[in-house]
Amino acid sequence: MSDKPLLRIINLKKRFGDKVVLDGVSFDLYKGETKVIIGPSGTGKSTLLKSINRLVVPDEGEIWLEDTEITKCKNINAIRQQIGYVFQDFGLFHHLTALENIMIGLTKVKKIPKKEAMERARYELNRVGLSGIEDLYPAQLSGGQKQRVAIARALAMDPKLMLFDEPTSALDPELIGEVLAVMQGLAEADMTMLVVTHEMGFARSVSDEIIFLENGRIVEQGPPERMFTQPKHPRTREFLFKLR
Ligand code: ADP
Ligand code: MG
Repeated sequence: MSDKPLLRIINLKKRFGDKVVLDGVSFDLYKGETKVIIGPSGTGKSTLLKSINRLVVPDEGEIWLEDTEITKCKNINAIRQQIGYVFQDFGLFHHLTALENIMIGLTKVKKIPKKEAMERARYELNRVGLSGIEDLYPAQLSGGQKQRVAIARALAMDPKLMLFDEPTSALDPELIGEVLAVMQGLAEADMTMLVVTHEMGFARSVSDEIIFLENGRIVEQGPPERMFTQPKHPRTREFLFKLR
C-alpha cells in the first residue's frame, strides 16, 4: 500500500434545496483497495459517487484524485477518463453492438486507431467472460451480460478508479452472481474500487472496508468481519439486522 491515498474525500457537503444530502463525509481510498458503501436508500450514496466524477457539484469539501483536486479541476473530461463509472441501468448505446459499445470511447475519446480499439475491446470482453457476443446488440443480451459489457467498456479506458453504484440492483436474482464474480475478480487483481451495494455477501467477502452511510454521514466504518460481527453503532446493528 502506498502512503498517499488514490482518492481522498474531505468534509464533503451537499444539499438539494433544504435537504442536506451529504453532511461532512471524509474518507481515503488507497490504490488496490475495495471499499463498500452500505446504507438505507435516500441517504446520499449515489450523490457521493456522482460528486467524485462531478455529475454532482458539492457545496463544500474537497475531493482529490492523487494530486488533482477534482472539486476545483477545470478539465473535467480528463478526470472522467480516469474514473470508470458503472451504475444500475448499464447505459449502453442501443444502436451499437457489444464490441462497438466498448470501442467507441477508445476511438472517439482516446483517439486510438480502430483496429487497435477492436483488439482492446475483444480483450476486455474476454476478461468479463463474454467472448462470442461481440456482434450482438444490447437488446439481444441478458441484464447480466449488459452489465458485464458496461464493466468491460469502463475497463477499456484504463481507469485508476472504478465506481459501482448498485450494479446488480436492476438484475434478476439469477444474474447477480455473474456480475459480482467479475467485480470480485477485479478486486483480486488490485483494481481500486468504491462500490455501493446491498449485496452483503459481496461486501463481507470482497471489501477491505465497509462504510455505513446514513443521512449523509458516515455512521461507522471498519473491516468487514468486525462490521458484521461486532458493529459498534446501534444504527449499523439495526441496518444489518434488518437485511437478514
Ligand atoms: P441513495 O443513493 O443513498 O439512495 P441519493 O444520493 O440518490 O441517495 O439521494 C439522496 C437524497 O437526495 C434523496 O432524498 C434524493 O431524493 C435527493 N436527491 C438526489 N439527487 C437530487 C437532485 N438532483 N435534485 C434534488 N434532490 C436530489
Ligand atoms: Mg443510489
